[in-house]
Amino acid sequence: MDCIFCKIAAGEIPSTKVYEDDAVVAFRDLEPQAPFHVLIIPKTHIASMADITPENSGVVAHIFEVAAQIAKNEGFDKGFRIVSNCGESAGQTVMHLHFHMMAGRDFGWPAG
Ligand code: AMP
Ligand code: ZN
Repeated sequence: MDCIFCKIAAGEIPSTKVYEDDAVVAFRDLEPQAPFHVLIIPKTHIASMADITPENSGVVAHIFEVAAQIAKNEGFDKGFRIVSNCGESAGQTVMHLHFHMMAGRDFGWPAG
């Protein structure tokens, strides 16, 4: 499958990783929208939030545990934001489930 994030997970395309284990990897976004901006992805291919099932949701729970750990390690005591764009209208451009984790500035609401 020609999936750029599968290739990043496999180490076939370079990325700046801030966290990795058997199931997930977190790496810096190429076009950061905040002083800290990483993408946290499952190593297994799940296309989007719409494809989460009882069979694969364990890795999603794990991603949020990793995010909380990253926040502790980075000292994000003022807060952070996690976003997952799902589908074309929401602005998803890479069809491999990913969670944007951003910090280091104030974020407006509602998101655009
Ligand atoms: P989305 O638009 O929500 O699907 O997010 C895709 C994100 O992937 C964008 O923020 C891109 O900047 C980022 N991106 C695309 N290719 C790469 C790459 N090779 N390394 C790091 N980030 C990437
Ligand atoms: Zn993939």
